[in-house]
Amino acid sequence: MPTYVFRCRQACDDVEQVHSMLTVPDDVECPVCSERARRIVTAARLGVGDSAAMRAHDATRATADAPTVVSSVPGSPRRSTPVTTNPLHRRLPRP
Ligand SMILES: [Zn+2]
Repeated sequence: MPTYVFRCRQACDDVEQVHSMLTVPDDVECPVCSERARRIVTAARLGVGDSAAMRAHDATRATADAPTVVSSVPGSPRRSTPVTTNPLHRRLPRP
């Protein structure tokens, strides 16, 4: 469920409450002065959290901003380690 921010008219601190999107009220009672605090629109807090999706999102953003430097051509035709150790495979036709 999303976190909604409510702002009191008496300049108290903002009130954050978690509500369902279907049941979110337009205003709530301020816990400091008991006045009505109206819901305000804030930016989505996409950077908050520690889930696998957030880590993947952060890693993707990091590669877009500062990609790693390539020092060699990937997929060179000669492999340094053999794929198989079976000597019969050496007799197979080469592409
Ligand atoms: Zn208040």
